[in-house]
Order: sequence, then C-alpha cells, then structure tokens
Amino acid sequence: MMIKPKTRGFICTTAHPQGCASQVQRQIDYVKGQPSISGPRNVLVVGASTGYGLASRIVSAFSAGANTIGVYFDKEAEGSRTATAGWYNSAAFESAAAEAGLKSYSIVGDAFSDDVKAKTIELIREELGKVDLIVYSVASPRRTHPKTGEIFSSVIKPLGDVYTNKTVNFHTGDVTEATIEPATEDELRQTIAVMGGEDWQMWIDALQAADVLAEDATTVAYSYIGPSITHAVYRDGTIGAAKNDLEATAHRLHEQLGATGGRAYVSVNKALVTQSSSAIPVVPLYISALYKVMKERGLHEGCIEQMYRMFSDRLYNGGITPVDERGLIRLDDWEMKPDIQEEVAKLWAELTTENVYELSDLEGYRKEFFGLFGFELDGIDYEAETDPDVAIPHLR
Ligand code: NAD
Repeated sequence: MMIKPKTRGFICTTAHPQGCASQVQRQIDYVKGQPSISGPRNVLVVGASTGYGLASRIVSAFSAGANTIGVYFDKEAEGSRTATAGWYNSAAFESAAAEAGLKSYSIVGDAFSDDVKAKTIELIREELGKVDLIVYSVASPRRTHPKTGEIFSSVIKPLGDVYTNKTVNFHTGDVTEATIEPATEDELRQTIAVMGGEDWQMWIDALQAADVLAEDATTVAYSYIGPSITHAVYRDGTIGAAKNDLEATAHRLHEQLGATGGRAYVSVNKALVTQSSSAIPVVPLYISALYKVMKERGLHEGCIEQMYRMFSDRLYNGGITPVDERGLIRLDDWEMKPDIQEEVAKLWAELTTENVYELSDLEGYRKEFFGLFGFELDGIDYEAETDPDVAIPHLR
C-alpha cells in the first residue's frame, strides 16, 4: 500500500517503515561520527521506542557497544493499519544492532505491569546475566496500578489558578490563546501516579530483588524544567509535581543503589519535538521560538545529540558526574542560557498568526513532527508501494 500521513488532532495515526528506519539510521550515523564511549555493557531502556528513550538506546549500543533490551508500548501493523512509529524504529534499531554484532531484544507491553517486569527479568537472566544501566523514559497518558488495579490518567494543568497563554496549532499556524482550568486534587494525585517515580522505583526494586542488577548499576530518568513562560502549565503544574516526585525518587534510589556502588539520577533535558511534547498546550509554540534562536546560534540539539552529551560528558565522562545543587544532571544548560531565554521571550511577546513562520521555526517544528512518523524525509519514495508488515528481529 501507499503510506501517507493521517492526522487526528495533534497525533499522526500512520507511520512509514522506511522513513522511520532512515531516522534511526541518521541517529546511528551521528553517534558513530563521535568518539566512542567507555560506558555500560548491558542496558535496559524502559520506554525505548521513540524520543529520548530511543536515543538513549542508540547511544548505548552504537557509542558504548552495549547489548540492549528495549521495553515499549507499540502496535504492529494490522490489515490496512500501519504499525506505530516506535515499532518501525525498534525493528530498524534491532536490525542495525544485529549487523554490528550486538545483542538486542524487545519486550512490547505495559511497562507498568508486574507481568512485563517479570518477563524482562527472565530475559536479562537468560541473555545478559545482569544489567548495569537502566534508563527510565516512559511518557504515558495512563497507568494501571499493578497492585490495586486503579487506572490513573495524567492531565497537563496548572495548580491553583487559571492559566492563559499563547498556543499554536502547528498544522495550520493559528496562534490563539489557550486557557486551562486548574487541576483538581484528584487530577494532581493521578498525574503523579502516572508520571511520578513510583513505577521507576518498582522496576529497580524488582531488578534488585531478582539479583539482575550489577552492583555498580546506574539508573537515569528524564525531567524538564523550562522557562517562566511555561512554568504555570508545566513545572508548577500537575506534570511538574509528578517530576518533583520523580526527582525525589532519584534521591532515594541513589542511596539504595549507592550501598553497593551504584547511582541514580534525573537528567533535565531540553524541550524537543516528540510525540509526548506535541500534546502539551503552549509548549510547541515555545519550542518553535526556541529552535529558531538555538539554530541561529549553532546550539541546536535533537534527542540524539542530547543523549550523546549525557553519556559522554555526564554519566560516563571517566570522572564525577556533574550535577546542580539539587543533584540534577542539566542537559538543558544551553536552552536555559540567559541570552537564549531573553531572545525567546522577546519573540514570544511578538508572536501572532501573521508572523509565526517568520519569527519562529514553526515550519521546522511541523517537519520534525512528521519526521517522527517517518514522513517528509529526503530520500524516501512516498509514492512507492510499501509493505506495512515489518518484523522486530528479537521480539520476546
Ligand atoms: P516519547 O513519547 O517519545 O516516548 C515515550 C516512550 O514511552 C515510548 O517508547 C513509548 O512506547 C513508551 N511507553 C509509553 N507508555 C508505555 C507503557 N505503558 N509501557 C511501556 N512503554 C510505554 O516521549 P519523550 O518525549 O521521549 O519522553 C520521555 C521522557 O523524557 C519523559 O519522562 C519526558 O517527560 C522526558 N522529557 C521530554 C522532553 C521533551 O521535550 N520531549 C524534555 C525533557 C524531558
């Protein structure tokens, strides 16, 4: 069949296998062009199929030569429906890893469940013995609690007051005002249950209890802080409260793993176009303005550049991992440079529907969004008949 993008709201419901494969290859080529890293040997990435998790898996394999297990929630093709982008990304990753002589395995399922944790532990035992890096990069709108069965939904809302700011429909370029009502206590509780640290803690506890964690294991999860423009809806809102919980979990895990020489961190990453960030109001317009300024100054990074920097300059730099006063790894250091933020704030004040393509990199944002699903990429024949059925080589 011919595979074209189909959008519903802010999501794209189709994905292109060759396009996704070319995006993965581009990331592999990037890291292969950098100095290799003396890093982890056996890596588990939870949330491994897109965005920061996929980039972490690529750096682990192609910079450090590690064997990897990826856990993710993606769908294979069925009838006339394509697989999800994460499925195609993972298939391409595993083929490339096999060619490079690296072990790689996939577990597709709900990372929040006991069942997937047990399956992963069994796989580690069988194939890798122990893991020495666990990357936790799940971004999900929902979680079923494995013990109580309660289904939590996360919301992106301010706390306390109504929040109004500019937002953009990145498909049409319409800049409008978004007004978001504050979250209720229960919405806050549920968002923390989905995006906070409880599941990360459960993963580490389960791996430790099963004795499949190396003594000096490292674990890292990802967070975001961002500028004052987005604070009310992000950092000071429901999702920020969940990130506070994730960061508190890192401190607890750092002590827990530290007893045997291990360590745990939260890395604060840059705002980037991913499936998750495109669903947050206000953020896509901020990212478009940020991209414009950072690209002009030669400081722009995507997921792969960020993750390579995290491995090479922070986690596996051969010495102490630099952290801020709260113990956080800061990969948002370039985004948060005062001169970058001043320039973004200036643009922000002026942005309207009439000037959005001129004052911001909205076209870059839109193109990158479709690129996440394998569309609008050079070198892909989108008119060609394409088989949507692609197998993941080492799916368990
Ligand atoms: P993403 O949507 O690209 O990736 C999410 C991953 O989680 C996918 O692999 C998906 O399959 C997996 N996943 C979702 N639900 C799952 C489930 N139930 N079981 C197993 N896997 C599941 O998201 P992303 O933007 O890369 O976000 C990853 C982390 O990085 C999040 O903690 C996010 O807050 C953080 N972060 C993102 C940004 C950004 O701008 N995108 C910035 C800083 C930090």
